[in-house]
Amino acid sequence: MNRDEIIKVLKNPNAEKTKEIFSLADAVRKKSVGDEVHLRAIIEISNYCKESCLYCGLNKNNKNLKRYRLSEEEIFSTALKAFNFGFQTIVIQSGEDPLIKTEFIENVVKRIKDNLDVAITLSLGERNLDDYKRWKDAGSDRILLKFETSDLYLYNQLRGKNEKVHKRVEMLKELRTIGYEIGSGIMVGTPFQSYESLVDDLFLMKELDLDMIAIGPYIPHKDTPLNDKLNSIVVKDPEATTLILVALSRILNPFANIPSTTALSVIDPKEGRINGLKCGANVIMPDLTPEPYKSLYEIYDGKTSSPEWNEISQENLLRSLKMAGRIPSSSKGSRIKKIYPLQ
Ligand code: SF4
Repeated sequence: MNRDEIIKVLKNPNAEKTKEIFSLADAVRKKSVGDEVHLRAIIEISNYCKESCLYCGLNKNNKNLKRYRLSEEEIFSTALKAFNFGFQTIVIQSGEDPLIKTEFIENVVKRIKDNLDVAITLSLGERNLDDYKRWKDAGSDRILLKFETSDLYLYNQLRGKNEKVHKRVEMLKELRTIGYEIGSGIMVGTPFQSYESLVDDLFLMKELDLDMIAIGPYIPHKDTPLNDKLNSIVVKDPEATTLILVALSRILNPFANIPSTTALSVIDPKEGRINGLKCGANVIMPDLTPEPYKSLYEIYDGKTSSPEWNEISQENLLRSLKMAGRIPSSSKGSRIKKIYPLQ
């Protein structure tokens, strides 16, 4: 499909065409990365943020949010809990918190790597390259840094920035040269976002050759400035559009790791995760942040509504994978480097 054809499908999805795209994506997924689903545990270590993104509940101007930071001990004990549940990747996530010191993350990464056989993904926002080099030396494996939209004008609007070049896109290229696997992605259906720019996002993710591609629907947060602009939303059905974009991403990037994002499961708690898996996704990233902190990492409304991860959550997840004909991965789930189609 070329650019114009994709735009046409996104604008006017008909059941037959959507079904065709989903089944092609599922077939590509099966042939390239198989039936395994990589389970990655997110630990949200701080909800402080120095930024003022208009869409995010963690933005520094949200005075209604109680803030927290986890101690090294709390992070390690949560990583241990995740490991005992069978998670083989720990995702350390936070707002852009300048009081999280370089040494702190270095120590956390070393301690986890010294004691647990897991991969570590860092999702800590924009930090200088030296920090990221030190964290790589300490043992971290992957970076998740979403560029949100390739449209620089929209990006500046949404994040309250005035950048001349897309800093996050440039950072991703630099982080790859350090040796990280790089993950990034977008939000679908923010106010002012056009279908055309979503297709540009799709091609940018391909051009960056991302190891992980995360696409999630925009969900408003009541205490953010963007909540007053909902009548400027162009994308009619962010959830359905997200699923089509997930499927197209799989077709364009056969070996990338593609999560069925949390936002999909917030919109549709029963089927959201599985719907993503049926459209080409092969990763699930449950939130293992302990209470009372988990409830405070409220990026968008409804994100924190699920209970703290426990045996029942784990059983439910494994059962739903089985029902979908998928199996939990037996590896850490680094991106497979092969050429498609397979010989
Ligand atoms: S999107 Fe990230 S950088 Fe922006 S306010 Fe939220 S946590 Fe901070």
